[in-house]
Amino acid sequence: MGHILALVLRSNADPTVIPILYSDHQNSVDLIEDIQIRVSQDSRLRGMNGRSYYRWILALARERRVNMLYTRGHSAELSLPSQLNREADHYASGSQRFPELVPFAPTPTFTMDAYTLYTKADGWVESNARNFINFFLAKEAAERLARGNKLRMLTYIHDNMPPPDYPYTRALSTQSAVIQLYVRSGQLPTAEVLESRSKLPSCMCRLGCDAVESVHHTFVDCPEFEDWRLAAGEEISLRTERKLVEAGILREEDQRAILNTAKSLFVDDAAV
Ligand SMILES: [Zn+2]
Repeated sequence: MGHILALVLRSNADPTVIPILYSDHQNSVDLIEDIQIRVSQDSRLRGMNGRSYYRWILALARERRVNMLYTRGHSAELSLPSQLNREADHYASGSQRFPELVPFAPTPTFTMDAYTLYTKADGWVESNARNFINFFLAKEAAERLARGNKLRMLTYIHDNMPPPDYPYTRALSTQSAVIQLYVRSGQLPTAEVLESRSKLPSCMCRLGCDAVESVHHTFVDCPEFEDWRLAAGEEISLRTERKLVEAGILREEDQRAILNTAKSLFVDDAAV
């Protein structure tokens, strides 16, 4: 902003004299020098923070030549540039104590990109648009999750095509994978899920139990599936035993922990 002020004020001065502008901001000094050798700076400015201010400086510096000289900030030297720099620093830091006396600096919307992000809270956003958008998308996703997905994944990125009636035509293991996916993403149509979506009047077990038909009830408690559970449990135990032998784990006490876990896959077991 200081550079802009200086450049604007300079236009009142004697046009035959090339004024000298001291600055301790290396970036601006380099930029103004580069502008005056007539190389287009558009691509360099495109991704820069605060580019509207730089474009404004650029437009002013193009109007009339100015000698921009870098002077090291906060130095104890006694040269004129250093003393001027100290003076400027003094007023800049002193002004923070009287914010109500500092005139409002105009926002150079006229040198912004044709499309610039804006929010009421942040004003114009010229810095990293990707981070900015990312922040709001993450916030929106967190709010959606908090509103009733029971901490499960969001569905808005999913394909909206209805799934095929039988997604598991190839093998039993694909059916198992699909059921697991449905369970984990809250899509398995248990009475509990259907009732919460107003597709069923009641969430109670449709096989007559006095219990909510949840995933846990269906897979662990519902007596209707007890025989299946027992058979599957035995099958898993047998296969696990076979695998253990194959892997060379033969001692009974070594096998026990793994076998117990295998046996309790379909029951609530506090030890697992
Ligand atoms: Zn039941």
